Amino acid sequence: MKRRDFIKTSALGAAGALLLPQACSPGPRRPSASARMSLRFYPYELRLRHVFTVSSYSRSTTPGVQVEIEYDGITGYGEASMPPYLGQSVESVTAFLQKVDMGRYSDPFMLEDIITDLDSLSPGDSAAKAAVDIALHDLVGKLLGQPWWRIWGLDASKAPDTTFTIGIDTPEVVREKTLECKDKFNILKVKVGLDNDMQMISAIRDVTSAPLAVDANQGWKDREKALDEIFWLAEHGVVMVEQPMSVDRPDDNGWITAHSPVPVYADEAVQGLSSLASVKGLYSGINIKLMKCGGMRNAWKMANYARAEGMRVMLGCMTETSCAVTAASHLSPLADFADLDGNLLISNDLFEGMTVREGRICLPDRPGLGVKKL
Ligand code: MG
Repeated sequence: MKRRDFIKTSALGAAGALLLPQACSPGPRRPSASARMSLRFYPYELRLRHVFTVSSYSRSTTPGVQVEIEYDGITGYGEASMPPYLGQSVESVTAFLQKVDMGRYSDPFMLEDIITDLDSLSPGDSAAKAAVDIALHDLVGKLLGQPWWRIWGLDASKAPDTTFTIGIDTPEVVREKTLECKDKFNILKVKVGLDNDMQMISAIRDVTSAPLAVDANQGWKDREKALDEIFWLAEHGVVMVEQPMSVDRPDDNGWITAHSPVPVYADEAVQGLSSLASVKGLYSGINIKLMKCGGMRNAWKMANYARAEGMRVMLGCMTETSCAVTAASHLSPLADFADLDGNLLISNDLFEGMTVREGRICLPDRPGLGVKKL
């Protein structure tokens, strides 16, 4: 990197998303006194390539809403994805977005103020808030002329492998799915939590020795049995466990974490920033998802909070287009684990963005999210 570029990048990282002094011109665009932001949105149903089963449900589509924020001729893209367990819908997202008045803001760089205002519109609606937050970040990155991983001061070459998720199924189907993906990914994530966990893992082990992550989605009911299973899983190459038991049983999850031979991550137990304090000490790390926490700004804060508290960081996603998955991927150089495969699970992606090469996340070196509409 040239010295001038380094200074520019460092200034961006230090200032969060502030404008640079004129000395750096030609540089980022200053806000125009007359320009205003406008928001558009439309529902977009995501079609899954395969029926997806976890310990509590199966589905073949995921409802979503696409968001665009336009400012001074530039468009920022965002997205809300609402799997059933999130408790949000196209209707609830639409109702929230109808309350958002982006025309109030003449300066898109005031991310902290704008996102705080958005947050005050309702107590929930994390996916709707994420959609606006992602579109704003895309817009601001484009105005700055830099991708978010660089604005955040992260090293794109440190982006980790992503896991690829295999849902709960019969051992035969799990074996087939593993054969399909084992050469493209260096680590696989397996949904467990019903009564055939060991058969599924054994079927996978018939065809690959790749490390595995497992996600019980709160499916295990007895902590002693769960811990016995985790020891068995660790002996079979499982390197981490996600959300072993119900979030209503924090003490049991904490006991499992304290005795587990592998790190245990909170997923359903951690939602937004305000839930972080409640999982501290109970899990080894947290799974941050933009749709749970309200977007990139909160995800960035959560990752830094977790690090400061000595907790591990995992980045996850819902089934999403490459828009929201790419948004999350900009934080991935900070993550111990990344599970950013949501765009690979759908057949009707709308964007091209982050890619996976030889199992590793490749971040786009383009302004904003770096996504291109297909
Ligand atoms: Mg999970």
